[in-house]
Amino acid sequence: MKSIAIIGAGVSGLYAASELHQKRYDVTVFEARDRVGGRILTKEGFDLGPTWYWPDTEKTISELVDTLGLESFLQHTTGEMVLERQTTTAPERHVLPEESIVRSKRVVGGMTSLVEALYAKLPDDIVRLGHRLTSIDRQSDRVQLTFQNGSVYHTDDVILAIPPRLVAEVAIEPALSAQTRKALKTTPTWMASQAKALIVYETPFWREEGLSGFGMSWVGPLQEIHDASLKDGPGALFGFFRLSPGEREALGEGQVKTRVIEQLEKLYGPKANDFLRFHYMDWSTESETATSDDFLPLTAFPAYGPIELGDRLHLIGSETDAQFGGHIEGALRSANRIVQGLV
Ligand SMILES: Cc1cc2nc3c(=O)[nH]c(=O)nc-3n(C[C@H](O)[C@H](O)[C@H](O)COP(=O)(O)OP(=O)(O)OC[C@H]3O[C@@H](n4cnc5c(N)ncnc54)[C@H](O)[C@@H]3O)c2cc1C
Repeated sequence: MKSIAIIGAGVSGLYAASELHQKRYDVTVFEARDRVGGRILTKEGFDLGPTWYWPDTEKTISELVDTLGLESFLQHTTGEMVLERQTTTAPERHVLPEESIVRSKRVVGGMTSLVEALYAKLPDDIVRLGHRLTSIDRQSDRVQLTFQNGSVYHTDDVILAIPPRLVAEVAIEPALSAQTRKALKTTPTWMASQAKALIVYETPFWREEGLSGFGMSWVGPLQEIHDASLKDGPGALFGFFRLSPGEREALGEGQVKTRVIEQLEKLYGPKANDFLRFHYMDWSTESETATSDDFLPLTAFPAYGPIELGDRLHLIGSETDAQFGGHIEGALRSANRIVQGLV
C-alpha cells in the first residue's frame, strides 16, 4: 500500500488522514504549528476562527457532525439588529425579515470539537507537530520532503492541505509551471486578512433589551457583530473587523480593544463595558495562515477551485473547492475529491 504524507493538520488534512487511515493507507501528517486545527481555533468554548455551518446547503459537514456524535445548536438570531451608519448619530434598530436570515448552526464545545474528534480517530504517532515543510523534491522514485527543523522524510504521494499561497512558498523540484505558480499566488486565503474580537459577559444582556446581538457598522472598528453566547451561557459577542491588518497593527492590540469596547457600548449600551474576558485573534499575523499578499482586505468573494500540481502532488483545502470554497464544507469536500481519486 502506498505511503502518503499529508502536509497540514487543519480540518482538510485531518479529515483526509482519518479517511485514508480507515482505508489502511500508511499515512503521516506533518503540521507546522504546535497544535492541530489550523484556522479552527476555540478558546474556553468560544470560536476565534470559524463559528458556523449552514445545514440546509452544507451536507458534508452536517453528516460529519452527526457521524462524530457531536451536538449542535442554532445560531441565536431572535430580536432586532443594530445598525451604525455614522459616528455622530445614534444606532438604528431594525427587525430583519424572517426570510432574510439563513439558518446556521454551531457545534457545542466550539468548532474545535470537530477537529478533536477527527484527531482522536488517528493513532498518536501519525501526526507530527512542529514540522513546517520547506521543500519537495520529486526527482527520484520516492518524493523527498524537507522540513524547517531539518528533518527529512520520503514518501510515495503527498497531499498538501495548506492554503495555495503557502504552497507557493515551498521550494518544489521539478519546478511547477509559471501558470500553476500564478494560480497559487493569486488565490486568496479565505479570512487570512481578518481578526476576531470576542467579548465574554456574564449573561447575553442585549437579549433582555430585545436585541439579537447582530450588528452592522459602516464606520466603527468592527464591521459585523454576532451573538456568540455558549448554549448554556455565559453570554458573548464577536465581531469581524472593518480595520485592515495595517490599521490594526498601527493601533496596537490595546487601542484596538479600547475602540471595540467603545463601539459595543454605543451599540448595546453601558453594560457592554462590564465584560469578563476579551479574546482577540489576528489571523493576518499568523505565518501558517497569511502571507503579505493577504494584507489587503478582499473586495469580492474569490473564485475558488481545484489547482493541479501533477506528479505525486495533490492539493486540497478550502480554497480548492469550486462550490463551497472558503468554508469548512469546502475543505471537507476537497479532501473527499482527492481521497476518492487515490483509493
Ligand atoms: C476568523 C475566521 C472565521 C471563519 N468563519 C467560518 C465559518 O463561520 N464557517 C466556515 O465554514 N468557515 C469559516 N472560516 C473558514 C474556515 O476556517 C476554513 O475554510 C477552514 O478551516 C480551512 O481548513 P483547511 O484545512 O483548508 O486550511 P487550514 O485550516 O488553514 O489548515 C492548514 C494547516 O496547514 C498548516 N501549515 C501551513 N503551512 C504549512 C507548512 N509549510 N508545513 C506544514 N504545515 C503547514 C497550518 O498550520 C494549518 O494547520 C473562517 C476562517 C476564519 C479565519
